[in-house]
Amino acid sequence: MKQTKFWGFLFSALFILGCGVFLWLKNTGDAGSVADIWLDGELIESIDLNAVTIPYEFEVSSEYGSNVIHVSHGAIAVTEADCPDQICVAQGAIADSAIPIVCMPHRLVIEIRGEP
Ligand SMILES: [Zn+2]
Repeated sequence: MKQTKFWGFLFSALFILGCGVFLWLKNTGDAGSVADIWLDGELIESIDLNAVTIPYEFEVSSEYGSNVIHVSHGAIAVTEADCPDQICVAQGAIADSAIPIVCMPHRLVIEIRGEP
């Protein structure tokens, strides 16, 4: 009698734990983590922001101008640009798919791929 109760408890505990792990993996796995960088309508770079552990910067230059892109864990920003409006720099870092960073003069778009 006592033995049965013990196994019942163990199984329900494992079941709850299993559900918890599943939900945890689901939450960390998807939901807007890949940043796509488009230049003049072409996809030039895809970065998995959740995989970034050490922040880094790189430059995207084209015939239109250049932008310095700062990548950190879960976020991406344009920190320097030689465009006349500086809108892309002023926007700061983005961490979700709500609003993409657009540098109109340089035809540069950075958007985080959001899960539907
Ligand atoms: Zn700009």
